[in-house]
Amino acid sequence: MDSLAIKAGRALDVRSGKMMEDVTILVEQGRIAGIGPGVGIPKGTPVVDAGGLTLIPGLHDNHCHLMLEPRNFDELIYKRASAAMALDAWINASKALQSGFTTVRDPGDCDREYGLVDLRKAIDQGKLPGPRVIVAPHFLSPTGGHGDANDFAHDLRMAGIGRIVDGPDGMRKAVREEIKYGAEWIKVFVSGGVLSKGDNPAHSTYTIEEVRAAAEEAHRLGRKITAHAHGAQAIRYCVEAGFDGVEHCTMVDDDTIGLMKRSGTFCVPTLYVLDFLVKEDNGLDLTPDLVEKARVMRNVQRERFRKVVEAGVPVAYGTDIGVFPHGENWRDFSVMVECGMTPLEAIRTATLNSARMNGIDHEVGTLEMGRKADIIGVDGNPVDDVSSLRRVRLVMRDGRIFKTPAE
Ligand SMILES: [Zn+2]
Repeated sequence: MDSLAIKAGRALDVRSGKMMEDVTILVEQGRIAGIGPGVGIPKGTPVVDAGGLTLIPGLHDNHCHLMLEPRNFDELIYKRASAAMALDAWINASKALQSGFTTVRDPGDCDREYGLVDLRKAIDQGKLPGPRVIVAPHFLSPTGGHGDANDFAHDLRMAGIGRIVDGPDGMRKAVREEIKYGAEWIKVFVSGGVLSKGDNPAHSTYTIEEVRAAAEEAHRLGRKITAHAHGAQAIRYCVEAGFDGVEHCTMVDDDTIGLMKRSGTFCVPTLYVLDFLVKEDNGLDLTPDLVEKARVMRNVQRERFRKVVEAGVPVAYGTDIGVFPHGENWRDFSVMVECGMTPLEAIRTATLNSARMNGIDHEVGTLEMGRKADIIGVDGNPVDDVSSLRRVRLVMRDGRIFKTPAE
């Protein structure tokens, strides 16, 4: 479809926060060619009537584990080969798109090969429908860290969920290989984790030298880098090493919050996932000690994230979906608001801020002339009521419609 017009009751300018009324968006060649109340529609252009929906930019989820699902992780890791994981990833990416998430970043996944890169290529080449996918292929983890298989008999020499990398030289080689095979982002497990046994989220599992080597190598080769980091020291290592973002940021201390603000390091908080982990009957089959670990982390994270918001650290939306059911990418918005953000600020994390973090803000993240037509329509006014973001009725990516109000 070369051109198309969408008429709707409202459209949100996420930059200014202004709501436009009775708006028409003209889409040509997959891009926004006109937006406003008085935009003329060339004769013969098909018109989508979005009625009373509010149009906003397509949303981004920066922490989307396309290959994980909320069930026994050992089965997911050890009983699927790469091809099966890639097929599951496509199904899960489609659920994100249907929920209004037109861009997803997979911040590392359980695949031992590079299935995510192949999935991204298939979508980019138009072979498969899907959201824009941005990939960090693997979790780089130290021996015994969050990505290692720590609770198996040692003589099995089990592979874990991550790629085991030790030492600054090992890190440089691993980063080079990730990039060689298609990484846009590098993901490093710098602290212990919640869902892994035998490691402590408060510990830094890499040294500052290893963390620096990873960042230098990624940046020298023009890629971005982020980390899984819960503990205060691990977060600080990443910020000092110049990481573009830090995931979770659970125990971030006040000094590091100040440093993140000054250096513009993005926090990708992943908030709702800890609510899900402490829920009974979540299907994950967690042992009581892991549930307790999650409960403690949840409370700390809420308190610290409030400080992150108060300080004005840049935040980009990311959920850790895959640990909870795909298609529920909207879950973090209301938690962000509970932690002190306005609904508009929460929406910005998943649009403008995310586009900036990924270096694609000249293409997506706002409803502006010349931007790619990634446009969604929600039932309600999300600036008044953030819960309306779960009611996505219209989805367009690159000018192509994937969900219409009639469905
Ligand atoms: Zn994650």
